Amino acid sequence: MMLLEEMTWTEIESGFETSRIVILPVGATEEHGPHLPTFTDTIQALEVAKEVARRRSVFVAPPVHYGVCRSTRGFPGTISISPEALRTLVLDLLLAFHDSGFEGVLILTGHAGGQHLAALKEASEKAVAARDLRVSLVSDFDLIDTSEVETPGDGHAGEIETSRMLVIREDLVKGLPEKHFPPRPRYLIMRDVRHLMGNGVMGDPSKATKDKGKRFMEMSVLGVLEALEELESYPSP
Ligand SMILES: [Zn+2]
Repeated sequence: MMLLEEMTWTEIESGFETSRIVILPVGATEEHGPHLPTFTDTIQALEVAKEVARRRSVFVAPPVHYGVCRSTRGFPGTISISPEALRTLVLDLLLAFHDSGFEGVLILTGHAGGQHLAALKEASEKAVAARDLRVSLVSDFDLIDTSEVETPGDGHAGEIETSRMLVIREDLVKGLPEKHFPPRPRYLIMRDVRHLMGNGVMGDPSKATKDKGKRFMEMSVLGVLEALEELESYPSP
């Protein structure tokens, strides 16, 4: 498996003979209910990237551990950066991958906040405008077939994420809390949302199982493999 952080430059150069594509996992440091660790989004994206790299030739970059978290702000452990900071960081990384010899980057984000995704998209657009570089942007959560999820509208720290964490790091799953769907305003812009969020879950962790987690992980892996094929087969921009 071609894990960039564990390789020497000479090994990376030899790796270029089989692939010049790298997966950049992007996560967040964010509360995930009273039962999941703050690196839940990061570790999911990283584990999917590693499984993809076990099945085909592709590099995996060290993950970005911070993202833009709006709906969970105010909780102990939600450490958000601004959309500007994420955009600048990811744009710099994309250009640096190109300067280092890579021809394509697949950004795989395990965190899916609206402003977070928008910042990643802007960075990607700027990078492809500036360099002869292929960039794909994949949101891990979108790769899950919701018809296989028991909980309608399951989201943050719910059935899906808890199931996946049972597969990835069962030792860090501290119970399976009851379902919780905090009421959130549709239109109102609020300074503070912490008091609306209860225990920080938006979904039903009580429905989580390891078997479901394995299936959800496989859906993500297959989705990323498909995105890589697209990235490689599309004619140059
Ligand atoms: Zn999450």
